[in-house]
Parts: sequence; structure tokens; C-alpha cells
Amino acid sequence: MGKPTGFIEYPRELPADRPPEERIEDWEEFHLQLPAEKLRIQGARCMDCGIPFCHTGTLVNGTAQGCPIHNLIPEWNDLVYRGLWQEAYHRLSKTNNFPEFTSRVCPAPCEGSCTLGINEPPVTIKSIERAIIDKAFEEGWVVPEPPARRTGKKVAVVGSGPAGLACADQLNRAGHWVTVFERADRIGGLLIYGIPNMKLDKSIVQRRVDLMAAEGVEFVTSTEAGKDYAANKLLEEFDAAVLCGGATKPRDLPIEGRELDGIHFAMEFLRVNTKNLLDSDQKPGFSEKPGFSHLSARDKDVIVIGGGDTGTDCVATAVRHGCRSLTQFEILPQPPLERAQDNPWPQWPKIFRVDYGQEEAATVFGRDPRIFCIMTKKFVGDENGRVKELHTVQIEWEAGNNGRPRPVEVPGTAKVWPAQLVLLAMGFLGPEDTLLDGLGVERDQRSNAKARFGQFATTVEGVFAAGDMRRGQSLVVWAISDGRGAARECDRYLMGSTDLP
Ligand SMILES: Cc1cc2nc3c(=O)[nH]c(=O)nc-3n(C[C@H](O)[C@H](O)[C@H](O)COP(=O)(O)OP(=O)(O)OC[C@H]3O[C@@H](n4cnc5c(N)ncnc54)[C@H](O)[C@@H]3O)c2cc1C
Ligand code: SF4
Repeated sequence: MGKPTGFIEYPRELPADRPPEERIEDWEEFHLQLPAEKLRIQGARCMDCGIPFCHTGTLVNGTAQGCPIHNLIPEWNDLVYRGLWQEAYHRLSKTNNFPEFTSRVCPAPCEGSCTLGINEPPVTIKSIERAIIDKAFEEGWVVPEPPARRTGKKVAVVGSGPAGLACADQLNRAGHWVTVFERADRIGGLLIYGIPNMKLDKSIVQRRVDLMAAEGVEFVTSTEAGKDYAANKLLEEFDAAVLCGGATKPRDLPIEGRELDGIHFAMEFLRVNTKNLLDSDQKPGFSEKPGFSHLSARDKDVIVIGGGDTGTDCVATAVRHGCRSLTQFEILPQPPLERAQDNPWPQWPKIFRVDYGQEEAATVFGRDPRIFCIMTKKFVGDENGRVKELHTVQIEWEAGNNGRPRPVEVPGTAKVWPAQLVLLAMGFLGPEDTLLDGLGVERDQRSNAKARFGQFATTVEGVFAAGDMRRGQSLVVWAISDGRGAARECDRYLMGSTDLP
């Protein structure tokens, strides 16, 4: 343990973000870092609890409690406090293949379960994680480490998001020849074409992909397994396959006027934005190019439907495009400012938060863009078939007959909103069918690939499933956890036993 009295002596300190008025002018990352001396102090706040809830990674009431990949948090907090950064990096890399991703985008369920958080602000675990891995890269400690021997077995990993990458990394370490198939033109899944550049710079994703390639992982882009590469070939040409295709079916809003131009799924907007950004080398004005202008938010009244992370990323992207006005609808009520009675520590605190996108929108337009308890009734278009307005009503949530809350319209709250761009960010319904059908993989009740708990094996011999494709839309850290688990079970299937964690 670093300093026994650290948690009494030192307050929590987070690094400042770049000011919103500055960062909305570019697409660069907005989180800054604390200097090493301040991070030592933050590490000293860790109490090295007898039972470190921060790294338990269990599900309670459907939400994660502690770190899903069981990062050895108290150990690296102590090492950072003692200035032993390289040792801290080695501890961190035992459990996390990609700390440079999680330390940037993870909502940090670890901090929600930190014991200090019962009556004080929790330890700044995520910032310390980022400092360790950033320093490791700066110091040249992260180098390609190809396996010493090869087993001769070949594994296909379908999908190159965090689940596929973690799985490929682990299987490669075990000595198998791994080929990753990706239908997009770049490797990374939602790390590339979902999460915007200002949260996770794409050069950081590419740096890891390059390392894995140098270690022997083969990446095949622009190839959809089950279509461009036949499903049965996966079974014939490889000894095993791990499906990590994500949960990409978006939830739609099938109301009057849905067919109008100018109404798009959030992922269409975000994917095209990042692709243009990368293809144009981040040159200003890229979002005005022909082919993209229909998806540009410039000078438009923009409404984002959906109050989650994807919606927030749309808000931040629309602000950077220079939209005229910006509103974000959320059908649920505003969460409480403090934990509710039924949401005690060490559960993830379901509280009201102002994320980066809302902060930026408030800077530009003078108010938080979110409207809670609002339901869209219909879209109305102009004479050219383009959306021009949304009709809404406020709702209240009442207990329904089956005990589940149901929305009830509040009389006299009908409202019309001007909008020329509407972005639907209402979540995802599960994986696509082509490959799963092609292989004959059964689905579970939620339409995800059915895989035995803890074993990741689907109903087809030698085929495993991991990440959002198995568990539904989740988090990067859960995808990494799944990818590691599927690799372990795949290795056991191939070799009869496994040393993978
Ligand atoms: C906009 C957005 C923002 C998010 N922000 C965060 C965040 O800040 N923090 C966080 O923790 N989580 C975030 N998430 C969730 C997180 O990104 C996902 O849970 C995670 O990426 C899932 O990883 P995965 O590897 O299972 O799938 P994905 O990342 O979805 O990757 C699946 C890949 O498989 C490819 N693929 C699919 N089918 C095939 C096929 N047949 N052949 C070849 N390739 C195929 C797809 O093209 C895709 O690249 C966000 C999600 C979205 C949509
Ligand atoms: S991966 Fe997420 S939950 Fe785990 S230590 Fe890092 S920030 Fe916390």
C-alpha cells in the first residue's frame, strides 16, 4: 500500500479537459493528463482494501460492479505512488490488452465501486491507468512480442472491434496463426468508426494494430465473412473461428414521416464523419465535401433522439460541424443528482452527468441540449420530401399493469421543433443475421449469438462468439473481457488445455 494516510491527506484531482470553446474547433482528444508527481499523490489515495471491489467485475442488477477485466488496481496504484512505472505497466498488461483504449473511453465502473467512494470522491483510477500506458509507449516499453513457438493451428476471428482484437491478441500469444476478417476498410470496429476521434484518437488504434501485425496477426479488411468470404470456408480453412461481429442492428423509430430525407441513424452519421476525417487527413472543411454534405450538420437545426453515449457523440460531432441549433431528446426522466436508495455502492452510480458533448453544446448555445421525458410523435417534411419539423409531447412514467413503468402523455405539452437533420441514437437490437445464418449458429432470446456462459462456444462445433455479438451492445471493457474469455476457451478446444487467463 502506498501511503496509509493518503486518502485522508489528499483530495481527488482530475486532469483538466481542454476548454470547450477551444476543442470544438478541432477533432483532437480533449482529455489532458496530470503531471507524474500529481498522479503519485492520486495513487497514494488508494486504501489497498482487503476486498478491492474496484476489480471484482461482477454484474449486480444488470450493471457492472468493478472492473470487468479485473485490472489489478490497488497494485498499480501502489507502484505508481512509489514511482515504479515500468512495474506498474507490467501489472496492467497482465489483465488488459489495450489500456490505451479503456483509459480513454471506459466509463470506469471501477471508480463507482471504489471503497473510498462510500463517503469521499473515489480514487482517480482511470487517469492513473492512462498515465501508465501512455508512459509505457513514450518510454518504448511496448514492443512487438511474437510468440516463441507456433502450434500450427489456424483461427479465424471475424470482426476487428475490441472483442476481436483482444481475442486475436490472446490467441496469437498462445502460438496460433490468427487471421482477422473485417468488412470495413480499417481495423478497429467501433474504436475506429463509432467512438469519435476527440474521445479516442485513431492513430492510437492504428498503433496497436501495427504492433499486433508485427507480432504475426494477419488482418484482412474490406471482406465480409459470410458474403465476400463464404461461411463454410471459415470452417474448412481454419481449425476454429471466433465471431466478434458486434451488435450493429440499430433501433428504429417507425412513426409517421420516418421515410423523409434528413433522418439518419446515428452510426451512419458518425461512421461517415470519421471516415471523411481520416481520408482527408483531418483537413478543415472535410464535412462539406460532396457525398457527405447531406450528412453535414452545418447551418442546420439538429435533433438527436437518444440520450446515451451514442447520442452524446452525435451532439459533439454536430457542434464541430457548426450546426445552427442542437437539441437531444431522452424519453426517460432526468436521473437523480445523487445515488437513489435502490442504487447503493458498490453498484455503478446511475446519476445525472454532463458529458463532453453536452458541455460543448452548452458553451455554444447557452444551455444543456437535453430534454427529458419527451416522445416524438411524427416527422413532417417540406415539398421536396426533406424533414422540416418534429412533433413531440412530454410524458410521465407511471406503473403499468405488469409492474413495468409505461409512458403517459401529459395533456397540453404538444410542441413543434424545426429540424433539417435528425439523428436516431436509440440503441441497438443485436447482431446481423447473414454470417450467423450462414454458419447455422443459434440465437438466444435477445437475438444474440447463443454461447454457453463462461465457455463462449456457440451451437456449432469449433465456433465461438464474443463481445457485443454475444452479449448485446455493451462497453469496450466488456468486449475485451469477452475476447479474452473466448480466446481462452478456443485455445482449450484446440489444445485440450490452456494457459491463457
Ligand atoms: C457511437 C458509439 C460510441 C460508443 N462509445 C463508447 C465509449 O465511450 N465507451 C465504451 O466503453 N463503449 C462505447 N461504445 C460501445 C462499444 O464501442 C462497443 O460495446 C464495443 O466496441 C463492442 O466491441 P465488439 O468488438 O464486440 O464489436 P464492434 O466494435 O462493433 O466491432 C465489430 C466489427 O465486426 C465487423 N463485422 C461485423 N460483421 C462482420 C462480418 N460478417 N465480416 C467481417 N467483419 C464483420 C464490423 O464491421 C465491426 O468492425 C460505443 C458504441 C457506439 C455505437
Ligand atoms: S478498464 Fe475501465 S473499469 Fe477497468 S480499471 Fe480501467 S477504467 Fe476502470
